Amino acid sequence: MNVNIKVFPAKGGDSILVSIDNQKYNILIDSGYKSTYYDYIMDEMKCLEDNNKHLDIFIITHIDNDHILGGIEFLKNNNLKKNIEIENILFNGYRQILSKKNLEKNLDINYKCRMKEISSSRYFNTDDFEEDFEEDLADVGYSEGESFSELLLKGKYNINRNYYKAVFKHKDNNKNVIEISNKVKMIILTPTQDDLKDLLDEWERYLKTEGIEHVVCKESEDAFESFVSNSDDFHEGLNDVSNTIFDIENLANKNITIEKTITNKSSISFILIVEKKKYLFLGDAYSDEILKSLEDLLKYNLIEDLDFEVLKVPHHGSKNNISSGLLKKVTCKNYIISTNGAHGHPNKETIAKIIKWNNKCKIYFNYKLDIIDEIKRCRSNKYNFQIISKEDYDSDILELNF
Ligand SMILES: [Zn+2]
Repeated sequence: MNVNIKVFPAKGGDSILVSIDNQKYNILIDSGYKSTYYDYIMDEMKCLEDNNKHLDIFIITHIDNDHILGGIEFLKNNNLKKNIEIENILFNGYRQILSKKNLEKNLDINYKCRMKEISSSRYFNTDDFEEDFEEDLADVGYSEGESFSELLLKGKYNINRNYYKAVFKHKDNNKNVIEISNKVKMIILTPTQDDLKDLLDEWERYLKTEGIEHVVCKESEDAFESFVSNSDDFHEGLNDVSNTIFDIENLANKNITIEKTITNKSSISFILIVEKKKYLFLGDAYSDEILKSLEDLLKYNLIEDLDFEVLKVPHHGSKNNISSGLLKKVTCKNYIISTNGAHGHPNKETIAKIIKWNNKCKIYFNYKLDIIDEIKRCRSNKYNFQIISKEDYDSDILELNF
């Protein structure tokens, strides 16, 4: 079975389409920004539909603008006029985390107004954006006020179909397997149920500081999504952009104090298994949690080894999300880094670690970045890596075939 991976230019975000066995099975992982949908995803979906294909799974790894905003446009369009059949959507929203299929309506008009305020105002808090990312701000376009959660309900999609509640890593590893066919499977690695509960706690804390009561109701759903989308620390990585020259040993051995955000901790990461081959899609998750899950799977014989065809580097190459511990254990030839360089991503430390622990690796970028020339220059006899970036392929879309 062939596997085709398309990594769309999603600015500072992620959007990846995986097509298996000549598009018999298709998985869309995240959806970037609004423009990612109109510039890339829309046409790809049309092509699939024209060929009588469908999406088996559409995953929003976590609620964050750079992963979900394109999905809002996608569902908005698909709800108006069915473009493509989506069999299952994996998404951890408010009601999924609460494990409530139906939420009560709150008839208090003041409460409704407060929730609406939260839904719309946070997107226009320009302090969250660096000047360079004003384009992203224009691209946020939330004025229409529709949330992913609301569009899911309107479109009557199957949400987390293989799970009773939210998608998370169960203690019973057999429950983490999602079968697409007998030869195509996913195994969920993160988040834990506690990671998802942390999102609700954070929401409750926020409401408390605002003097608003936490009422579990329909009106809270969109506000929660809006709150979580914007609660990430946008300045992460920027305050410590390494000015040092690209010295692999130095950078790879640098001690890093990991800063975790609750939003990224809630990220769905998974292994995709196609026949005997394995692919790692790690969202914006953290490597210690990922490694723990991988070791569990080995222990319980759900996988035979830690050899992967591809590793989608978590969180756009942030040094906070990848550790030598994970890279030492995993064998992989192809690493994908999805970012246009926003928020200081990727960090040099990340690239150095990948090269150090997986000699002869290929690192793929979906943009041309300043950092790339510097990395290319430092090639030595000791490290035999290869960098593939936008200037090395003839398309807007980075494509890998297996
Ligand atoms: Zn992200």
